[in-house]
Amino acid sequence: MTAEIISVGTELLLGNILNTNAQYLSRELAALGITVQRESTIGDNHGRLADFVNEAKQRCDLLVFTGGLGPTADDLTKETVAGCYGDTLAFDPEEWQKIVDFFTRTGRKTTPNNRKQAMVPVNGHKVINNHGTAPGAWFEQDGHCAVLMPGVPHEMKAMWTESVRPLLLARQNCTLHSITLRVLGGESDIEYRVRHLLENANPTAAIYCKTGECEIRITARAETDSSAEKMCRAYATKFYDLLGDAVYDEDVTGLEETLVHTLKEKGLTIATAESCTGGMIAQRLTNVSGASEVFGFGFVTYWEQAKAKMIGVDPAAIAKYNVVSAPVAAQMALGAAEAAGADIAVSVTGLAGPNGGDAVRPVGTVYLGAACGETVYVKKLFVSRPDRALVRARAAQAALELALR
Ligand code: ATP
Ligand code: MG
Repeated sequence: MTAEIISVGTELLLGNILNTNAQYLSRELAALGITVQRESTIGDNHGRLADFVNEAKQRCDLLVFTGGLGPTADDLTKETVAGCYGDTLAFDPEEWQKIVDFFTRTGRKTTPNNRKQAMVPVNGHKVINNHGTAPGAWFEQDGHCAVLMPGVPHEMKAMWTESVRPLLLARQNCTLHSITLRVLGGESDIEYRVRHLLENANPTAAIYCKTGECEIRITARAETDSSAEKMCRAYATKFYDLLGDAVYDEDVTGLEETLVHTLKEKGLTIATAESCTGGMIAQRLTNVSGASEVFGFGFVTYWEQAKAKMIGVDPAAIAKYNVVSAPVAAQMALGAAEAAGADIAVSVTGLAGPNGGDAVRPVGTVYLGAACGETVYVKKLFVSRPDRALVRARAAQAALELALR
C-alpha cells in the first residue's frame, strides 16, 4: 500500500508551528509497511486543496490528512475531501450530542458553527474522537481511501492509535510487534555497523539519533501476534550480535529508566552533585516513575562555595587543580554520596560556554565522577561544538552512562 500525508493549515505554511504530525505519521505508516511517497502542506483554501487531492488520488492508495476539522470557516478539509471522493456529509445526532455534552461539562454553550463538526460522511464513515469534539472521517472511492484526523497533535495521536491504526492493520490482515533497542554511541558509527539490516522490508528497522545514543526500532508484521513477536526477536538478535554491549536496554525512555530499574534491583540509592548541568540529571532521574525508591538527594552546586559548603569539596583542591578537573569531580561525587547517605553518587563539573574557557580547558570540557563506597571513577568528556545546550545535555547523558557502568 502506498500513501501520502497531507497537512492542512495556513499556520503551517506561515512557519508559525512546526509540522510534528507529519513526522509522527511517517514513522507510524512506515511501521505498518505502508510506503509514504510524499508529504505535502496545503493552506486552508478549498480550491487549492481540492486540486491537490484530485491529483494525489492518482498517485497512491491512501491519503492521510491532519488539520481543518474544527468549527471555524477556515476548517474545510472534510467538505473538500468529501467532494473529491464523490461523497456528501450528513448531520449525525449522536456526534452532536457528544459535542453538546462536552460544552456543558466545560461550562460553555455551543454556537451554530459547532454543528459543522457533527457532519459525517454518508458513504464513508466517521472516526471516533475520544479526546476532542471533532470526529475524524474516512472516505472511499474505487478502492482509494482517505482518512481525516484533527490537527491538534495529542488528539491526532490518540485517534491514530485507537482507531485509524487498527483499521489499517485489519485492512492489511496483519498485526505488528515492535522492539526498540537503546544503543550508546554516535549515529554514524552505529549506522555503519548495522546498515545492511536497515534495508529490510519485514521486519523493518529504523535508526533515530538522540543525544549520546541512538534508538533502533524494529517492527515486524505478521498474521498473528506471536509470529510477529518471534520475527521481531529474531531480528533483534542480529543487532545484538553486531552491537554487543552498546545496546543497554529495550523499550525504555532513556538511560535514566534503566539506571533507576537497575538500582532498584540491586537495592542501591543514588545522589547527584551537579554544576554545569544545574539539575538536569536529577530531573531525568525523577522523570522515571518510582524514582523515589532510589533517589533522595540532588545537589546543585554551581558556585565554588556551594561545592565546599554542601558537599565538602576542599577549596585547596579547587585552587590547585581548577574547579573543572578530575580531582574536583571525584570529591564532588564522594562528598555527595556522604552528605546524602547514598550508596553511589554521580557528579558533573564543566564549561558549558559559549563564553569562557582557555587553551587548557576550552568550552566543552567536562569532568564526570561516579563514587561507590570508597571507590571513585572519573571521566573526561569534551564536546567540540561550543553550544551550551548541547554541552549540558551531553554531560548529563555521560554522567548517567558512567553511573550505569
Ligand atoms: P480545531 O478544532 O482546534 O480547529 P483542527 O482539526 O481544525 O482543530 P487545525 O485548526 O488545523 O486543526 O489545527 C489546530 C491546532 O493544532 C493548530 O493551531 C496547531 O497548533 C496544531 N496543529 C495543526 N496541524 C499541525 C501539524 N501538522 N503539526 C503540529 N501541530 C499541528
Ligand atoms: Mg481548526
